[in-house]
Amino acid sequence: MWLRELKAAQSRLKWSRCPTTISTDSIEKVADEVVVCAKCRLCETRKHAVPGEGSSSARVMFVGEGPGQQEDIQGRPFVGDAGKLLTELLQSVGLRREDVYITNVVKCRPPNNRTPRKDEAAACRPYLERQLALIRPKVICPMGNSAIRALVESEESVTALHGVPFEKDSITYFPMYHPAAALYTASLKRVMEEDFQKLRGLLDSVTG
Ligand code: SF4
Repeated sequence: MWLRELKAAQSRLKWSRCPTTISTDSIEKVADEVVVCAKCRLCETRKHAVPGEGSSSARVMFVGEGPGQQEDIQGRPFVGDAGKLLTELLQSVGLRREDVYITNVVKCRPPNNRTPRKDEAAACRPYLERQLALIRPKVICPMGNSAIRALVESEESVTALHGVPFEKDSITYFPMYHPAAALYTASLKRVMEEDFQKLRGLLDSVTG
């Protein structure tokens, strides 16, 4: 079933590059702005903003909801238990963290890990959009319901959408569970392992 969807997404892939566009923006510039950003209330409670990390030419970009406690302390994305699982899942399909780009919808930790509010996600959105425009990944993986809602504005849950690629505005999305979900529900780890295998196939097919 997913193979058919994969082929459909593959055939519609048109992530075009414009060789005449000269941009002075950069991933480093975005990060420099994020670490001093005060555009929403989350700056008041953060220890460190977490811009994201990985390859600026990554073929795949993972987007979570927001930094957690460890991420807030270290200023790096996905470095707690969920991050360890993400690293493990990447390695299971031959990917390293430095091969991909990892970030979040909001770059500062919401207090007590609450879901980011709409105005917070909206204030932070330009940073994510610039990261997407600069990296131009072949595939974007929103992880969890918050990231799915923010990126593809779908009201469908991750349970319905995970593991099946689809295209929106000429971008291929591959929704996944957030790794933290697999820490609470052990059976989801197997589901995530299968989804990463599908993602590997998708990446191989869209990048040759
Ligand atoms: S969450 Fe985003 S918009 Fe809000 S302060 Fe942090 S970097 Fe700025």
